Amino acid sequence: MTTRRAPDGQLGLFPRCHADRETRDSCLRQGTAILILVLAGSCPSGRIEAAQLHAGVAKVDVTNRDAGPVNDPLFVKALVLTDGATTAVLVTVDAVAIAEIGSIRNEYLANVRLRLQQELGIEPSQLLVNASHCHGAVCAEIEDRTVQAVNTAWRAMVPVHVGAGVGREDRIMENRRLKLKNGREADVRHAYSLPPDEEVAGVGPVDPEIGILRLDTLDGNTLAVVYNFSCHPIQGVPSRGNTADISGFASQVIEENLGNGTVALFLQGCSGDINPVSYKDVDVPRNAEPLGNMLGLSTLRALRALQTRQDDRLAVVNRTLKLPTADFAQRIAALEAEKQRLVGSLRGTSLNLKAFIPLVVKYNLSDEFPSAHAHRYLHERMLERDALGKLDAENRENLRTYVQNILAMEEITRVQTNLALLRQHQADLADSGNRTIDVEVLAVRIGEFVLVTFPGELSVQIGLNIKQRAPHELTFVSGCTNGYIYYAPTAEQLRNPGAAQEDCDCILAPEWQSLFEDNVATLLKTL
Ligand SMILES: [Zn+2]
Repeated sequence: MTTRRAPDGQLGLFPRCHADRETRDSCLRQGTAILILVLAGSCPSGRIEAAQLHAGVAKVDVTNRDAGPVNDPLFVKALVLTDGATTAVLVTVDAVAIAEIGSIRNEYLANVRLRLQQELGIEPSQLLVNASHCHGAVCAEIEDRTVQAVNTAWRAMVPVHVGAGVGREDRIMENRRLKLKNGREADVRHAYSLPPDEEVAGVGPVDPEIGILRLDTLDGNTLAVVYNFSCHPIQGVPSRGNTADISGFASQVIEENLGNGTVALFLQGCSGDINPVSYKDVDVPRNAEPLGNMLGLSTLRALRALQTRQDDRLAVVNRTLKLPTADFAQRIAALEAEKQRLVGSLRGTSLNLKAFIPLVVKYNLSDEFPSAHAHRYLHERMLERDALGKLDAENRENLRTYVQNILAMEEITRVQTNLALLRQHQADLADSGNRTIDVEVLAVRIGEFVLVTFPGELSVQIGLNIKQRAPHELTFVSGCTNGYIYYAPTAEQLRNPGAAQEDCDCILAPEWQSLFEDNVATLLKTL
């Protein structure tokens, strides 16, 4: 386990005294126990019996078994926490998103909230639902099973001790945005070809941190592990069956190793531009299981070094932010012009694919004598004839043209795919008539574990920025939470003069990033 900064919170049973007004004000918002102390006019000089945090956890299978073969099950998992005054409900779903894309309908979150309010009295604002963003298929009863999981967790609540920490995993992911020498950015997708190697100048960052929350029963058994990590869980499995992918395997490793019914809840982090490694491998079947095993084992390693203690701090702050939406008209026009330029660059050659491939082999096998055995070339030179040389020059020119055509075709696949995304979002934005979008942002504290959420696919740099500015040692960030508004790239990524998925499958204007990060910085001070 690694530690970023000195642990937050000094007193074993109660948050530390706060001398300054701003921090004391934030204390006031935390809960009844602190309120009573501040009103009493002094900070506690010694240890005071704190409110006891209670937690319950449950998981329910949500695999769609009508959608073809199943490789491994998908789950909805619920963790309910209360200190008597505040209740927080954390739900994780093995799904691509909880709205807009995939099979979970847009009404899901509102319906679940309504039912939990009616059945258990849980305030809608206290519910957090994170999608792992795996691309598995969930069953049609996802709403009922989510409510069932929360109900079961609610009824199973017991007193708990809390611990938080950081693990490290840097072997299973890579940034998927490629910085090109021409100043553009491309990305690593199955939807199209990679740019040529000689055009690639650099790659983006990754976040190797695993943010961990551990909840133990008072007799020392681990009730639940919440872990946050940034990577698209989209590697797939050799069987091509339905799968919860990397995070599903990681959770399985954690749960099986800890035993005693421990539930591991994966919180997707800022994976907008983070792929699994070897994502485009064509030589061996792509397999999420070893990657998930590594993530699970790294989480377990950190868990072993992590202590739990009594800590009753529990807070959920729910805010709605108004973010500016994009106008892609200029980008669409520029990319259409680029597509026309590429189409116009295609040139006729004598070759077709059947003629091209054997020529490539021959001209790479022998640079000096590609078209015939060496003695034929030597014989021609002796007679001062150059028929083979002239043939080679013509073939080489045709090969160069054909390769240029292929590279232009590959570029067209990238431009065309991303242009379609831009056109779709531009049409939707025009239909909505709004220049802003309301998004729900949560800031949650559970003991020393602090979490910020966002309903889109955040680029990893945004998570790194938030952690860097955070006033709390163990702050983590989850995208794909409480909604889905597509990709949420950095302002710099949105200004990409090329076309990559994150800056085209998006509805936000570049100004959104600083607005969000500034609001989060303010929000975190209230915890
Ligand atoms: Zn994605």
